[in-house]
Parts: sequence; structure tokens; C-alpha cells
Amino acid sequence: MNGSILVVSGPSGSGKTSLAKKLLDIVPNAYFSISTTTRKPRENEQDGVDYFFIEKESFLSEIDEGGFLEWAEVHGNFYGTSFKPIEEALQGGKIVVLDIDIQGHKTIREKFPKLVTSVFITTKNKSVLKARLSSRNTETSEILELRIINAISEMRSINAYDYFFVNDDFEESLNSLTAIAIASRHKQSLTDR
Ligand code: 5GP
Repeated sequence: MNGSILVVSGPSGSGKTSLAKKLLDIVPNAYFSISTTTRKPRENEQDGVDYFFIEKESFLSEIDEGGFLEWAEVHGNFYGTSFKPIEEALQGGKIVVLDIDIQGHKTIREKFPKLVTSVFITTKNKSVLKARLSSRNTETSEILELRIINAISEMRSINAYDYFFVNDDFEESLNSLTAIAIASRHKQSLTDR
């Protein structure tokens, strides 16, 4: 495998997904992994673009068949990274960008300790997070509250990550993420895989 893995995590509303997707326009040879989820699509989301949206039953069958490299239950829904496309991308020498939660990061790091670089992206404080999530207008108030509560516990895992930054200004954050992605290709551990 000639590729490497960049894990991007952070609370909902941190802006990590927008940053991770934008990174693909900048860094050559990067591949964004499209996860599978049992969450219902939001109004602006497309099947096969943002996620593969499936029913819980199909998700559970896919777990049994060993189709996921990792999977986790997050905010009451299931999310998983499919094995095959990641394997192909790694063999093709790509930087595989995974937008996954803290549980997914732990699993991937255990499976590919030499290939992984990880970054945790967050907001300045809880009120910025709440304001961003509310303005997105994609969640019910119950789910929004759940995501805020989960954000606080997710923050406790920051020290499991290689890098961390606050996404205050999108362009500045994109520069930071780009620098991390480029540096991740030069990790000494990649020479010894
Ligand atoms: P959202 O519902 O806001 O799209 O995503 C909720 C959370 O699930 C985010 O923290 C996101 O990073 C995480 N997530 C998305 N796909 C995956 C996946 O394949 N595996 C894991 N473990 N987490 C995921």
C-alpha cells in the first residue's frame, strides 16, 4: 500500500466536512471517502455524493458480511467506512481523507498505525457551535441538543489526535488543513510500512 490516511474529526458544526471536501481541490491525489449511514438525508444531500443512505437492516447485514473497515453509532445513527474503496485508494497511492468520529479514528489508528495522520477541528466555544448548528437548520431541536452534548464529550478525545485547530476563519483553517495534509505525506513511518 503506497497511500496514507488523513482522519478529520470534530463536533457537528465545526465545519470539518466543508474543509475536508475543499481540501480535495487543493491537494493532488487526495480521495474523499463517502461513508454509509442509516441517517435520513438532509434536504441538500445526495445519495452517493454526501453519503450512501441505507436502512438499518442493510447496514447490519453489511457489518455481518465484513464490508466495513470501521463503523460506529453516532448521535443515534449508524455510520461506516466501506472496506473496498479505501483499500483500492491506498493501493493507488492516494491520501484517503476520512471524515469520521472519535470512535472511527480509534479503530482506524489501531488498524493502520503507520499510515494515519489525524486532525481534530473545533469551534472557539459552545455558543459558536450552537449558532452554527442552528443556522444550518438541518436538525430538530432534540437532535441539536444531543449533538451539543456529544460535542462536549468528543472534545475530551482531542489528545488522541496529532493536530488540532479552531475553525474561526475558513480560509485560514483551509491553509492549516492543507499544510497538515501535505506534511502527512512526509511522515517517516510511511517509509517503513
Ligand atoms: P453527520 O450526521 O453530521 O453527517 O455526521 C455525524 C458524525 O458522524 C460526524 O462526526 C461524522 O464525522 C461522523 N461520521 C460520518 N461518517 C462516518 C463513518 O463512516 N464512520 C464513523 N465512525 N463516523 C462517521
